[in-house]
Amino acid sequence: MCLCEVKGARSLVAACVYPIDREGTEIFTNTPQIQKYRKMNLELLLSNHDKKCLSCPRSNNCELQQLCLEYGVDEKKFEGEETKYEEDHSTLHLVRNNNKCILCRRCVAACKQQFVSVIGANNRGFDTQISCAFDRDLGDVSCVSCGQCTVVCPTGALVERDDTDKVFAALADPAKHVVVHTAPSIRATLGECFDMPIGTNVTGKMVAALKMLGFDKVFDTNFGADLTIMEEGTEFIQRVQNGGVLPMITSCSPGWVKFCEHYYPDLIPHLSTCKSPQQMQGAMIKSYYAQKAGIDPKDIVVVSVMPCVAKKFEIKRDDQGRDGMQDNDISITTRELAKMIKRAGIQFTSLEDEQFDPIMAIGSGAGTIFGATGGVMEAALRTVADKLTGEDLKQIDYNEVRGTDGIKEATYDVAGLTVKVAVASGLKNAAVILDKIRAGEADYQFVEIMCCPGGCVNGGGQPIQPGHVRNFVDLKALRAKALYEDDKNLPYRKSHDNPEIKAIYEEYLGEPGSHLAHELLHTSYVERAKGI
Ligand code: SF4
Ligand code: SF4
Ligand code: SF4
Repeated sequence: MCLCEVKGARSLVAACVYPIDREGTEIFTNTPQIQKYRKMNLELLLSNHDKKCLSCPRSNNCELQQLCLEYGVDEKKFEGEETKYEEDHSTLHLVRNNNKCILCRRCVAACKQQFVSVIGANNRGFDTQISCAFDRDLGDVSCVSCGQCTVVCPTGALVERDDTDKVFAALADPAKHVVVHTAPSIRATLGECFDMPIGTNVTGKMVAALKMLGFDKVFDTNFGADLTIMEEGTEFIQRVQNGGVLPMITSCSPGWVKFCEHYYPDLIPHLSTCKSPQQMQGAMIKSYYAQKAGIDPKDIVVVSVMPCVAKKFEIKRDDQGRDGMQDNDISITTRELAKMIKRAGIQFTSLEDEQFDPIMAIGSGAGTIFGATGGVMEAALRTVADKLTGEDLKQIDYNEVRGTDGIKEATYDVAGLTVKVAVASGLKNAAVILDKIRAGEADYQFVEIMCCPGGCVNGGGQPIQPGHVRNFVDLKALRAKALYEDDKNLPYRKSHDNPEIKAIYEEYLGEPGSHLAHELLHTSYVERAKGI
């Protein structure tokens, strides 16, 4: 589609590979000839395409469909042999349908960028297909569930597993008490699904929509993020004071954790034992909240709204949950929540703001910034510094770990202790830090790793923006800005100041790192095969 005309050249050229190496080269990007051949290329693509737009999960947000509309394409112009592929439903997080694949290879590049490379082009010519080595199912290889391939795919060939019907079924079941909680970054991204400007904070409308959908309680996962900081901060201080394994590495990004288990299993002892905010929140809903509300936890269905398809994998991990119950029962993405809101006929942009429900309504600014790369580190530093000094320190902003750089480093003096930290987002960047740790060349005490480039605001379950937007707009920065603004304006900016967090420790958990806290909020990891 990137055909263009170069003055003097005998044929059209592809802009993406044509070298601009001569002074005075004249290039035309929109002539009748270019339009004719672009249209023909689209017709050729459609000649071997499963054209079920009516039921396709990407309909209305498909770059191929949009181009066909713009070029007035006749979908039956070329008819001939068609390839037929089985859909791949082998994973918990996504579905592959090669019948809708246009072989653009964006997914291959995204997977390579994540340092995983489990998908690539197999075979040649007409038989070329995007697949795993030896045509294995995705569930049989060491895919880390990041979902970055689904965000770049221009068509319906790679989509998240749709769990919205399960949520609607739970909401319609009178025997079930259905509780939802929404991750920090969702408030900064959901609006995009309703054509609102990128980086609009829609917290109040999101809560209103969830209440209209019929959830019995709407909680804020920022509370779970604050809880994570209480536990992780305590774990870090204990490791420093007791000679534990350092650097300690954050564990709230399930794609990163799975990457570590497959590719760096020798570094598992460095991972914090803390569950992710999603899992902590779910565990507390089925214990603390269930007890306070007088509801049998077996009658509670916990739904999490997450930026990430890896969360679908995380809720079913063997090392999570208790008494035969999962901490969270269903995990849906930002995109799936938007789908539910649309299907229910809710006019999202017209909604009046509503508030989260107590007893998990309050999240601190530290909890909010979990959604951006560097946010977990900054949130942890705010609490660790206060705990170590025993003071309510004025320093709240740790600007050195902010921003969208893939790797950030900083050194802080915390109560006489020198703390060197590193922050990496995107697994290729993570690998740079991990290789240094593995080689014994790293002098960090604390490391934050997020699977997705830019952190959760750019997660694999976030709204899909077409290539022409992604190429020119810094999505990560705009979405993160909304979270840092939120942080600035919240009444509590440190996790340990959150009154609901204080209450949960006073009334239920005891101290951070207590026996009960360990039982409910901590976990373990396993070495996984480094597949193909
Ligand atoms: S991938 Fe796009 S063009 Fe193909 S069926 Fe889906 S919406 Fe239609
Ligand atoms: S989910 Fe991530 S690791 Fe798995 S195939 Fe897609 S990009 Fe690769
Ligand atoms: S990004 Fe989508 S359409 Fe492009 S090669 Fe991958 S699966 Fe096919």
